[in-house]
Amino acid sequence: MKYDIEITKSMNPKEKPDPAVLGFGDIFTDDMFIMDYDEGEGWHDARIVPYAPIELDPAASVLHYAQETFEGLKAYRTAGGGLKLFRPDMNAKRTARTSDRLCIPPIDEGFYVDAIRALVDVDRDWTPDIDGTSLYIRPFIIATEPFLGVRPSRRYKFIIILSPVGPYYKEGLAPTKIFVEDEYTRAAPGGTGYAKVGGNYAASLKAQMKAHELGFTQVLWLDGVERKYVEEIGTSNAFFVMNGEVWTAPLAGTILPGVTRDSVITLLKDWGVPVREERFTISEVFAASEAGELSEVFASGTAAVISPVGELRWKDRSITISGGDIGDLSQRLYDEITGIQSGRLPDTHGWTVDL
Ligand SMILES: *Cc1c(COP(=O)(O)O)cnc(C)c1O
Repeated sequence: MKYDIEITKSMNPKEKPDPAVLGFGDIFTDDMFIMDYDEGEGWHDARIVPYAPIELDPAASVLHYAQETFEGLKAYRTAGGGLKLFRPDMNAKRTARTSDRLCIPPIDEGFYVDAIRALVDVDRDWTPDIDGTSLYIRPFIIATEPFLGVRPSRRYKFIIILSPVGPYYKEGLAPTKIFVEDEYTRAAPGGTGYAKVGGNYAASLKAQMKAHELGFTQVLWLDGVERKYVEEIGTSNAFFVMNGEVWTAPLAGTILPGVTRDSVITLLKDWGVPVREERFTISEVFAASEAGELSEVFASGTAAVISPVGELRWKDRSITISGGDIGDLSQRLYDEITGIQSGRLPDTHGWTVDL
């Protein structure tokens, strides 16, 4: 069976970092997963090998035309010393949708999760065990055929690497300052906004740098056509609590369908909190704030889970949210999701996978 995973572990294990001082994404474990694709043969030679640089032809099409998709999920340490993955089937499904958009050949979704499980199991001792830390999992697919013409590659590599991580934002759960970006846009109808592709990130850096220079943590993206509808915050989904209802942009092609977004919406519905997945404008948000009806704003994503927003700046107007503190709903969502991920709270939706 070509989908058996051959395992050759590293013979030179590295020293593990101090879990108390972990950053985000700068340390990698001893091993990695690789599988190749060749036209006519399909995906083959799934293997776990020592973590090392890969050889790539300088003409490899990913280097020129960015035919690439990636994912991000985490393994969490439980109190009993076990490990849990959070909804990895959702990452497999999203990879399938992104691959389809980029003409990358599909990977069996069950095998995608098996490959993640196999690698995390081999390097399980790298999962840090203090609060707020985890083992970040980065699966990605690159087009490797040496060819400068523009068409889908006939060769690919599917690779998974692991990185022990601390909190995403140095401020932790402290509220962020967000700049509403009205010059650059992230996604347009018909484009790749809903797909997890590296090119989207390359195109977002300029706005992120501008926000940093102005003293903000991140940008809030507006729609690419009219620049008035609220879309996302940086690389996270965005939620606004207005008049007791929770508003978030609908999945209409320009929004990345976050796993955390879906979990937040499910939990809110469980709790009887009304959720509106509908278009709304940045003017409506500022008007709600002026009327005293905007109680919380937060971003959701795997890296930071829930990230409360304390300040929003749009053109020359600034508003403070929840008095610059974390709101009750943001805190409750953070506690619930991290509680399920670490096994402290019951997983009534069957979201976690034990390892
Ligand atoms: C990955 C990502 C998210 C968050 O998705 P999660 O599955 O919750 O981690 C949101 N927006 C963008 C643009 C992303 O790339």
